[in-house]
Amino acid sequence: MSSVIFNRNRVKLKKLLGIRTRLVLLALILVAPLMLERVRSLEHTRSKQIALATEEFLNIAQHSADTQREVVSSVETMLKSAAYIRASSGIGRSCEILRASLPSNLPWIRSIMIASKDGLVQCSTLNIQVGLQIGDREYFKKAQASRDFVFSDYLFGKTNGRPMMMAAYPVAAINPEEDAVVVAGINIDWLSKIMTNLGGRPGISSLLVDSAGVVLAAPTDQTSMIGRPLDSVPLMSAAAEKALSSDAPTGSLSFTASDGSNRTISFSRISGTQSRLIVSIDETRVTEAINREIRNAYLQLGFVCLFVLLGALIGAEKLIINPIEVMTGMAKRFGEGDRSARVARSKLPAEFMPLARAFNAMAAQLSQRERELLANNDRLTVIASIDMLSGLANRRGFQSRLDFEWMKAQQYNSQLSLLMIDVDHFKLYNDTYGHPEGDACLTRLGETLAGIAADTMGFAGRYGGEEFCLLLPNTDSLKALAIGEMVRTAVLDLKIPHHTSGHHTVTVSIGVAGALPNDTQRPGDLIEAADAALYAAKHRGRNTVVEHGFARMVDQAGMALAG
Ligand code: GH3
Ligand code: MG
Ligand code: MG
Repeated sequence: MSSVIFNRNRVKLKKLLGIRTRLVLLALILVAPLMLERVRSLEHTRSKQIALATEEFLNIAQHSADTQREVVSSVETMLKSAAYIRASSGIGRSCEILRASLPSNLPWIRSIMIASKDGLVQCSTLNIQVGLQIGDREYFKKAQASRDFVFSDYLFGKTNGRPMMMAAYPVAAINPEEDAVVVAGINIDWLSKIMTNLGGRPGISSLLVDSAGVVLAAPTDQTSMIGRPLDSVPLMSAAAEKALSSDAPTGSLSFTASDGSNRTISFSRISGTQSRLIVSIDETRVTEAINREIRNAYLQLGFVCLFVLLGALIGAEKLIINPIEVMTGMAKRFGEGDRSARVARSKLPAEFMPLARAFNAMAAQLSQRERELLANNDRLTVIASIDMLSGLANRRGFQSRLDFEWMKAQQYNSQLSLLMIDVDHFKLYNDTYGHPEGDACLTRLGETLAGIAADTMGFAGRYGGEEFCLLLPNTDSLKALAIGEMVRTAVLDLKIPHHTSGHHTVTVSIGVAGALPNDTQRPGDLIEAADAALYAAKHRGRNTVVEHGFARMVDQAGMALAG
């Protein structure tokens, strides 16, 4: 039972998996590993490129932080040298040196001033600052307390309202006897320029924030952020806390921003200051180009697969299905009897040539065999209708000819007559001369009858035993009677000795019947009538011809009997 179900399913599956489907599957099996390999390599490229981009931007962040460290160190150097000058010279002298020595190649240093212990600006490279009181400032106090270099947080310049930072260095760090503090005002406009340079790539933005998380510098297109706390900057608030609370000099974190973009934030602390450079990378935008490339590559891959599949289908259609259909069509035509059906080889691919040649050869051979068979059949039909002893048609042959002539006579409304000829006392002949001599006698009679048939346009046959018949188309009974007489005398003239017969030679008795065939009669009626006439001839003493009144009586009785 289960094997039956299995076989049924197998047949269904085979129907489903036609040659086209199989070829397409084959093409897919061939293409699939290449496709998978390509997809794998594309995905690998994608993750590699993202990693590369992340690494590159981390490096940029690091590099920028380093650049800013240089700025810080240049400020530190300037302040320390100013502190040395202050420590080694009096206030008046040191102020002169300070004004003369501020290098123009450090544009970020806005001014350098020397403040007293209480925070009174005693001298400055910017005159306007002399006399300012900065003793209450955080950085000032911190520098005095720590006796070290200190950076302020973000400030607005009191004189011009521009964003700036202050750096302070106590002279006490060099000479503990001195309590003045050297202070530098630092422009942070230039930082924004660096930010701009750092940006300029889609998906990348950078900010410099101070210890309180206030934006100190931003790319030129985002300068509105300057002075605002990082928490209020869109998409950055999530990063603010982590970036600001970390003590590590560098770090990074990834998160999904409120706009749904995946962002990586890298931050680097600028040594000597509380500020941090924050670089934000929007992975989605950074990888957009890569994704576009990969999408194109997938599209190309899809097209290649489509072309391969189409190629497989068209190839299968042209190279396999069509030739098979051509061959099947020819075989079908041949099977339906069109013996001239041959495969046109020009229509087939080379691989099908041997099959086409074999088919054509087989078709030619079968046609030849059939021709031979038909000829043999014809020969056999002829042989089967010929009597070998007399050389005339046998009863079967005679019967079919009678049917044919009957039909023809009916069609043309012509007369048809029949002679039934029986050898008289032939049993005695056999008894007297032997059977072989009897056969020879029958052969001679056959020859005689054939001659008369040829002369009278008749058809002679051996009806059975020593009984012959002669069919006479287009012949009425009277004419047939005369021909009967011709037969009788011809036999008599043969003078074949027959001592035991009353005539001492072989004689024949003949019954003659004629008809105008129509639908009410059958060929058998004509035979019966001729037979009846023969019977009458025997009765009348043999060697006689008797005509049956068939034609004349048929209108009255519809039946013929010897009169
Ligand atoms: P009737 O005059 O009444 O016709 O007498 P008959 O002897 O001719 O007729 P009967 O029917 O009594 O005998 C026919 C004989 O014909 C008997 C048979 O041996 C002989 N005969 C039939 N066919 C052949 C044959 O093929 N060869 C030979 N040698 N004799 C045959
Ligand atoms: Mg007989
Ligand atoms: Mg006889």
